Amino acid sequence: AKSDGRATYAFYSQELTTYARQRIELTTALRQALEHGELRVHYQPIHNLKSGQMVSVEALVRWQHPERGLVPPGEFISVAEENGLIGAIDLWVLEQACRQMRSWLEAGHTLEFVAVNISTRLFSRGRLDLQVAEILARTGLDARHLELEITESAVMDDPDSARRQLQRLRDLGVRLAIDDFGTGHSSLQRLKSMPVDKLKIDRGFVAGLPADGKDVAIARSVIVLAHSLGLSVLAEGIEQPEQVDFLRRNHCQLGQGYLFGRPQPAEKLFLGPAPFYAK
Ligand code: C2E
Ligand code: CA
Ligand code: CA
Ligand code: CA
Repeated sequence: AKSDGRATYAFYSQELTTYARQRIELTTALRQALEHGELRVHYQPIHNLKSGQMVSVEALVRWQHPERGLVPPGEFISVAEENGLIGAIDLWVLEQACRQMRSWLEAGHTLEFVAVNISTRLFSRGRLDLQVAEILARTGLDARHLELEITESAVMDDPDSARRQLQRLRDLGVRLAIDDFGTGHSSLQRLKSMPVDKLKIDRGFVAGLPADGKDVAIARSVIVLAHSLGLSVLAEGIEQPEQVDFLRRNHCQLGQGYLFGRPQPAEKLFLGPAPFYAK
């Protein structure tokens, strides 16, 4: 038993070393990716569920790795959060997205806003509003065409400072959404006092619609809650027409998911087939 214990210990410490080394390598590679322009922004359509029309888009980062190909954010965002590179990544994505949105609008496309993800780290440090204002000025995008997505946990972890940060951003005229709603720990009291415009229902609760009774109860409650607070509501991860039917019946205005379109490069967004899920 004793030698077993030692073997296990050796095994784990080697695992940890490998793990730590991989993270260090990833940090170096990611820093280079930023410097060498290997990051890309893809855009996923957001549809009005009533009209079926694409009305907005969400910007999602990818890493075009020279050997590994297109790497999804799930494989590098958490490391970037640990090593602090996430702030630079978010600001880079924000600037690309604002510039792209401006050129879509100039080309005559009618999009309401581009949504950009803001990490907890960037949100909770310093004056994000000043950085956003600078990027808007540099790209010439009107603030009302930008929506910032802040996760529920970022907002609820330190509600007083979150409220001030949200208010400063809102004073710029940008829209604010709480992302992954339902996965954090919102108290209704706190939610009520947050100056935001929208709740995004996490895709974990959309997956089981309309068959799963618990998902039905949760989705309905979030929609009613949003509306009673005067907020709009968007359902993420829509893959089935039945989910759209349910959401429309329950007055959820906006939706996003593979049914409507996957995240794709900017130049492909307006080339696809006309929206097939229309009224
Ligand atoms: P998120 O903000 O919740 O973004 C939605 C994710 O769900 C995206 O994954 C999108 O591709 C995926 N998705 C959309 N529709 C469907 C669907 O119908 N079915 C399924 N199974 N998935 C769907 P993606 O692009 O891999 O991004 C994952 C997460 O990485 C994002 O989740 C967000 O938390 C983070 N992320 C992405 N880009 C950025 C960024 O620029 N900054 C920061 N801080 N985080 C980002
Ligand atoms: Ca998001
Ligand atoms: Ca989300
Ligand atoms: Ca999510």
